[in-house]
Amino acid sequence: MSQFFRTELPPALERHEEYRPFLRRDFSFVCAYCERPEVVLGGEEFFEVDHFRPVKKFPDLRVHYSNLYYACGKCNRHKADTWPSENLIEQGFRFADPCEEDMYLNHLNEGQNGELKERTKVGGYTCEHIRLNRPALLAWRLERRGIAADLLTLQALRENLALHLQTASGSDLHERVSEQIAALDSTISRLRQRSSDHPNYDRRGEWEI
Ligand SMILES: [Zn+2]
Repeated sequence: MSQFFRTELPPALERHEEYRPFLRRDFSFVCAYCERPEVVLGGEEFFEVDHFRPVKKFPDLRVHYSNLYYACGKCNRHKADTWPSENLIEQGFRFADPCEEDMYLNHLNEGQNGELKERTKVGGYTCEHIRLNRPALLAWRLERRGIAADLLTLQALRENLALHLQTASGSDLHERVSEQIAALDSTISRLRQRSSDHPNYDRRGEWEI
């Protein structure tokens, strides 16, 4: 299943950049390739309208909405006009299409340090040409992992404290445990907010431990 679904029905427009508001919504304000959201990168100005099939090779698709993808500037510039030759396509090399498939599930594995490893030729080709193992992305994936792990730990701790609360005798103890639970709830809520800025970590069932 793909990660992005188009629901917008934009009118025919003259310039590809004019489709940006529709793309932002269809791509959930996230880069189609590295999947970093606008909020992590500092805003919409760090995003561009990408031609999945490059205009140089496919001029007819210049303003074809289904060929336009929302991408961060870095991914877009690394991808640039790259497109596999017929020969490479015959051998199975191509870009993973984020609107057709989930490349992080089907074509790549995430290693412990946040680095992506190819599972298929499609994953290898995509990772190499969009440079999905560049340092900023490794750091981002690591941070996302850290947040997910911290959330699990804190939630387990909270459950334990809630059990203690049920059996706590003495109003002092009861009050102290209640305060600790309230403090944890506030930290958990902050972390949840951050994890929603780092979406999709929970769909990566293939993480190597
Ligand atoms: Zn990107």
